[in-house]
Amino acid sequence: MKKLFVLALLGIMAFATFTCSAAQKVLRVGTEPTFAPFEFTNEQGEFVGFDMDLIRAMGKEAGYKVEIQNIGFDGLIPAVQSNIIDCAASGMTITEARSKVVTFSNPYYTAGLLVMVRKDNKDIKSYADLKGKNIACQIGTTGENKSRAAGGKSVTAYNTNVEACMEVVNGTADAVINDAPVVAFYLKTPAGKNCKSVGDILEAEEYGFAFNKNNVQLIKDMNKALATLKKNGEYDKLYAKWFN
Ligand code: GLN
Repeated sequence: MKKLFVLALLGIMAFATFTCSAAQKVLRVGTEPTFAPFEFTNEQGEFVGFDMDLIRAMGKEAGYKVEIQNIGFDGLIPAVQSNIIDCAASGMTITEARSKVVTFSNPYYTAGLLVMVRKDNKDIKSYADLKGKNIACQIGTTGENKSRAAGGKSVTAYNTNVEACMEVVNGTADAVINDAPVVAFYLKTPAGKNCKSVGDILEAEEYGFAFNKNNVQLIKDMNKALATLKKNGEYDKLYAKWFN
């Protein structure tokens, strides 16, 4: 009788181990993928870019299966707050206002804002020259805030960064304010060949991954994973892949 009991117990334990390992923890990541080289989609429709590689590597390191979905930039923070996603990975600048409603990981990239105009534009040489001009930006971004403070004639906020830049290419807008590394990348693409950046980097900004404030353990795990990847050279490898 005792033997039978032990056998049954062992069976239950084996089954439990099996089901536990089969159901790996999932990390639901949201991103707005029009922000190359941080997040964009390739011809196969896959999410690629520095953020995508980094969050996948961090998830793997911390023992999560990473699943990525497309969410509008202005919908990312609400999605984190309402636990529709666990993490926003979207070139998101760590700001005071956002830090009131979500918790950011430790910073993983230093960026800043830059003005982009058409190459044939003669009168915009810096941010100060945007007074009275038509400015395009992406909705809900730090670039939008900076655009609204520029004293322009109009500010139009688009859902995607690609649309905002296209307005400059088409000449519908005089300038776009966007993150400096994204402008640099865009200038090297066919769409950006008739554009240029003007003036200095406007604002020093740091990117973080955003989490729900209540997800204390996850934030700890992910910060630990980020630190490990920085130490073991994996972060540097990804940096070189996307920025060299
Ligand atoms: N870094 C900027 C922000 O956080 C822009 C991000 C983006 O467009 N993906 O607002």
